[in-house]
Amino acid sequence: MNKQELKKRIIEAIDANRDSIIRAGREIYSTPELGYKEVESTKTAVNFLKDLGLEIEENIAVTGCRARLNEEAKGPKVAILGELDSVAVADHPDAAENGNMHACGHNIQMGGLLGAALGLVKSGVLKELDGRVDIMATPAEEFIELEYRENLRKEGKITYFGGKQELIKKGAFDDVDMSMMFHALDLGENKALIGPESNGFIGKKIKFIGKESHAGSAPEEGINALNAAMLAMNNIHAQRETFKDSDRVRVHPIITKGGDIVNVVPADVRMESYVRARTVEGMLDSNTKVNRALKAGAMAVGAEIEITEIPGYLPILRYENMDEIFKGNLEELGLAGRIVEGGDFTGSFDFGDVSHLMPTLHPMIGGIKGSLHTREFQITDEELAYIVPAKAMAMTVVDLLFDGAKRAKDILANFKPVMTKDEYLEFMESNDKIIKA
Ligand SMILES: [Zn+2]
Repeated sequence: MNKQELKKRIIEAIDANRDSIIRAGREIYSTPELGYKEVESTKTAVNFLKDLGLEIEENIAVTGCRARLNEEAKGPKVAILGELDSVAVADHPDAAENGNMHACGHNIQMGGLLGAALGLVKSGVLKELDGRVDIMATPAEEFIELEYRENLRKEGKITYFGGKQELIKKGAFDDVDMSMMFHALDLGENKALIGPESNGFIGKKIKFIGKESHAGSAPEEGINALNAAMLAMNNIHAQRETFKDSDRVRVHPIITKGGDIVNVVPADVRMESYVRARTVEGMLDSNTKVNRALKAGAMAVGAEIEITEIPGYLPILRYENMDEIFKGNLEELGLAGRIVEGGDFTGSFDFGDVSHLMPTLHPMIGGIKGSLHTREFQITDEELAYIVPAKAMAMTVVDLLFDGAKRAKDILANFKPVMTKDEYLEFMESNDKIIKA
């Protein structure tokens, strides 16, 4: 069979099972769960994959699951990923009682992921390929509920707050050569966006420690931690002109505690911030400046400071050779002329971490309306949202692994990771610390 015939079989298999794929996506939509709590969503994925006759590894990082489609085969391994977690948008009409809501469209990714698995298995194309394919439903992409995750960490259940960070640490990607997934996005008249790049970030919690005294009768005996925080905030602003435009730095601190009662000089003031940038160097450089600015604020009033650094996500890197294959498949599926190239996202995705270790693919696909994470989010075209990316991802696997896995091997031969796994873990550890001054 030639490559075109294999792709045709995939398309037919997915079309014939269109309803069950969309049903799985809808089911996850209607049971939105936050990160590391995706119990029901994992079940939906497990049941779907079991129906394909696959063996499933469950709860790969607290929740989530994985299926190895053809472990017995030889050759490079491609992992297809989909994210399980929702966000919370309580005022969305489809929000669950607890406020949870799939307003980032991760349920769409899951439909696409399960559809791609179905296409590859039911079409029978796997035996014609010279490589292996894994399906991974991953937890906790959204960097939220930090206290809950801090507790999981204390209980020894996780090391990192992001699902893919945790999976990398646990070795889930050790036998994977390349990875792909997609994300939903409102693209207006267009249908797909290829090759987005994003910012990475370092998370920070800051505590300014001063000394209480009566604010009216003895302010001279106190050390005002709020003044330290305000100076620090201005010091950060004074750094902004030194940030390179190309680094796309975003620093957005907030004060989460400004004092206790008004007639006591504030002695405990808290701040939180992200430091985001387009490259690891940019992240580290701007973070050094932000820490300097914070410490200087404390120093000026004689306060102490405690900075807790939390490893955030790395920027998403773009691999044009992967993009090109995927784009070709979208065109074969009728999207020609409606595909945008390149996108500049100053937000962050945990798939960025994976993109520092191996060639990756992370297109954005339409089929939704409204901004992500808002009450306007709406799925408007289920065919485009779920079915098109399912087909395109499975077809991309065929391109990569057909004919001795020539294309995958070519990409891998010219690939040098930004970091090895060891370097990655070292980087994560170096950003996981408490600085006191
Ligand atoms: Zn998302």
